[in-house]
Amino acid sequence: MGAIGKPQQAACMKVYKFGGASVRNAAGIRNLVDIVRREPGRLIVVVSAMGKTTNALERVTDAAFRGDVNSALAELSKVREEHYAVIDDLYPCGHILLQNKVEALLQEVVALVRGHDRYADYDRYYDQIVSAGELISTRIVSYALDRDNVSNRYMLMPELLRTDDTFREGRVDMEASALLIRGFIEKNPSQVYVAQGFVGGTANGLRTTLGREGSDYTAAVVANLTDAESVTIWKDVPGILNADPRLFSETTLIEQLTYYDAVELAYSGAQVIHPKTIRPLENKQIPLYVRPFEGYEESGSVITGQTKHPIDVPVYIWRRNQVLLTLRPKDFSFVLEDCLNSLFEVISRHRLKVALIQSSAVTISVSVDNTRRVPAAIAELQRDYRVTFNEGLSLLTVRGTTPEIMERVRATHTILLTQTTRRTARFVVTGEPEKI
Ligand code: ASP
Ligand code: MG
Repeated sequence: MGAIGKPQQAACMKVYKFGGASVRNAAGIRNLVDIVRREPGRLIVVVSAMGKTTNALERVTDAAFRGDVNSALAELSKVREEHYAVIDDLYPCGHILLQNKVEALLQEVVALVRGHDRYADYDRYYDQIVSAGELISTRIVSYALDRDNVSNRYMLMPELLRTDDTFREGRVDMEASALLIRGFIEKNPSQVYVAQGFVGGTANGLRTTLGREGSDYTAAVVANLTDAESVTIWKDVPGILNADPRLFSETTLIEQLTYYDAVELAYSGAQVIHPKTIRPLENKQIPLYVRPFEGYEESGSVITGQTKHPIDVPVYIWRRNQVLLTLRPKDFSFVLEDCLNSLFEVISRHRLKVALIQSSAVTISVSVDNTRRVPAAIAELQRDYRVTFNEGLSLLTVRGTTPEIMERVRATHTILLTQTTRRTARFVVTGEPEKI
């Protein structure tokens, strides 16, 4: 036995993460099995809910919480059908054991829907329902691996990834989770483990989720806790590109990035990795690979502490769905420090997601994600400030900008605010992200 805290069994582990798009159908799941089979070492496979299941379960939650049980159950039936279609495709002769497992999880959701009036707290209710997506997808993946003789252990993250009770944004208790996860691995030696992304649980046994798109973060946390050798996120893109290929005709793959680069890109709104993902990896200098799910031979991008050369192409990142608030103190106390203090206090209490801050002599402007918490925050700010705001905006960040790029953005967009530093320009513009 190793010393306490030194995970012997967990040594030489790698973490692979597969997102919803990668497991949205039987072909995707077969591809996952192929990728996992090629890995000679030990592996923790972190999986998201299939396709758009999380969105569908959000609709189930909304309807049920409103008391509209019929709509909630109708929505849930669609989720059931989608999953059964995939199971049928994987097992044309049926698979009773797997179907029973999946049905049991769906029945739990049915019970939650019917018992909606026992929940007063929306976020808490949401987590109990929405977490089912990952619990189901991982069952399907685990059985698919088994069938191809990749024996694996199923990790129940509501029991192994301990969080506090900040529902929908559970904060991971790293110490408790380390003991639980390492303990599980030691007691259940296996070459491959399958774990739900995005899902954790409180000490009281309630399920929590870690925030939308949180599976990358799960992968990073698990890698940190098991001292993994690396994390690979398998995606439906070639790696990290300098722009969204849907909005740019010519994109370039960025082969190497530093953790700092990655945080900057993620925070600016790059969809490719979740912003919280980097810290647990940076802390232990664990490299993060982003590789194409459908191009096993391609190496994709790697994020590490240092790279051979800095990124040498301009990088364009959109962050959508912004509200720009501009505050002007009512009492003429234009002391920036005081204003910032009270502003940050409101931001933190309402859990607003800030994308940009800019101050002038008499105003402070903040661009925040337009979540359902924004109106209450505005109402509160209106007590001390005259608040003006615009909705339906997008934030464009251009890293490595040039005078030509600045010109092009100005010519093609309606800009409400521009912020420039040495190499980066940021624009709050009206409307949805569009071609530049
Ligand atoms: N299934 C969750 C979501 O769609 C988590 C994830 O995909 O990372 O937000
Ligand atoms: Mg997803």
